[in-house]
Amino acid sequence: MEKKINFLELYKFIRVSRVNNLEAIGFCPFHNDEKESFAFSIETGLWKCFAGCGQGNAIQLISRVYKVGEKDANDIFNTLLNPIQEDYLQYHATLLNSPVILNNLLKKRGWSKEIVLEYKIGYSDERFTIPVLYRDTLLNIRKYAIDGKKPKMLNVTGYGNAKLFPYNMLKEPELFLFEGESDCLLALSLGLPAITVTSGAGTWKKEWSQLLKGKKINICYDIDEAGKRGAEVIASQLLGHCEIKNIKLPITEPSNADFSDYILHYG
Ligand SMILES: [Zn+2]
Repeated sequence: MEKKINFLELYKFIRVSRVNNLEAIGFCPFHNDEKESFAFSIETGLWKCFAGCGQGNAIQLISRVYKVGEKDANDIFNTLLNPIQEDYLQYHATLLNSPVILNNLLKKRGWSKEIVLEYKIGYSDERFTIPVLYRDTLLNIRKYAIDGKKPKMLNVTGYGNAKLFPYNMLKEPELFLFEGESDCLLALSLGLPAITVTSGAGTWKKEWSQLLKGKKINICYDIDEAGKRGAEVIASQLLGHCEIKNIKLPITEPSNADFSDYILHYG
């Protein structure tokens, strides 16, 4: 059965001032609006700015408000409809209240406490947890086994579509792109503007190339075959959109060495 959508609830990122029948009136998120220029249908989600910012459907609105492509906007739409029922802040509190686990994690991964606090890293069921937040919308929680538990990584079931992480870095003009969250959080701890893809080495969405347009991207993937292949695929996708530098880590051991191995053992 099709769930009836209440767009007044779904568009909680729009400041609404009044509702006439099935039409909500409020302030446009795309210009400095003091005249309540924005309207949308509570039933269909179709919207319009009367000052000229445009009009469209729900996916187009989310895409513009969240500054993402349509595939990511579609995932955000689905998540707004069916929010994740897990409390990442509870996991974060658990980690902060477990000093032995926290200190081991910081030591082993090279992360700073500030980064753990900023990105609300947590702990649950023998896994460290990384919430994937876009604005204040929780899109996934990545859950990495700490001690060899299988599987190595779990997504929230049904919310595993790859995303660029962390979202707040997407505004930076230059980025270091890593193969995984652990490397990325280490680089952020070192003060580098860093992002990663929340999935394996081979994944890239076409719309992300558009999202990163005009930036300088330093690709820093693992030294194994999967990492090299992944870096090549992404470099070819970014070609024509970004200035690309493929960083080859100057190490040969271990055979699957990554940025963390480099920094923690040779840095
Ligand atoms: Zn407008």
